[in-house]
Amino acid sequence: MALRIVHYNEPVLHAKGEKVTKFNADLTKLALEMIEAMHDAAGIGLAAQQVGRSLQLCVADLRDADADFTWELDGARPPLDLFMPLVLANPVVKVVPGTPETTYEEGCLSFPKIRGNVIRPDAITVTFQDENAIPHTLACNGLFSRCIQHEVDHLNGVLFIERMDKKVRATITEEVKALARQTKAEAEKK
Ligand SMILES: [Zn+2]
Repeated sequence: MALRIVHYNEPVLHAKGEKVTKFNADLTKLALEMIEAMHDAAGIGLAAQQVGRSLQLCVADLRDADADFTWELDGARPPLDLFMPLVLANPVVKVVPGTPETTYEEGCLSFPKIRGNVIRPDAITVTFQDENAIPHTLACNGLFSRCIQHEVDHLNGVLFIERMDKKVRATITEEVKALARQTKAEAEKK
């Protein structure tokens, strides 16, 4: 069964994910279902919280992203097709010292149709484990880096609207409130 993507303001979106410790068939299945849900929704990233699980697990796929970015995975630069869709368990992000900040209009599958500018550092390195518990180090910038930062925020219960400055947030306040009301109404119907 396809996973349902949860919308703001379901409480799980504010939950910090538990560390992934069991790299078994259940984890592989969850990761595959998350990839399917991400592709169905035409997203470039999806976190476990967005499918109702508070776990340090997210997926990303930037093969179709129309953006310039660079990357280095474990010291090499493999083609995206070789490692995407990418599964990240227990990711830890470090900002590259001195990297500039960039502004970009982000969206989120848990906030349908709502977009707003978010300022984030450009270059990061992220250490993580894949679905087989093998550790990796990824260095990236541009949209790739932004996507990973956005997803790792989810794993810590942080939402992109909380990263917006006050002025940007004010422009979407009504839409966000309406979404929260709609989510609540749907939950009460069940
Ligand atoms: Zn999101």
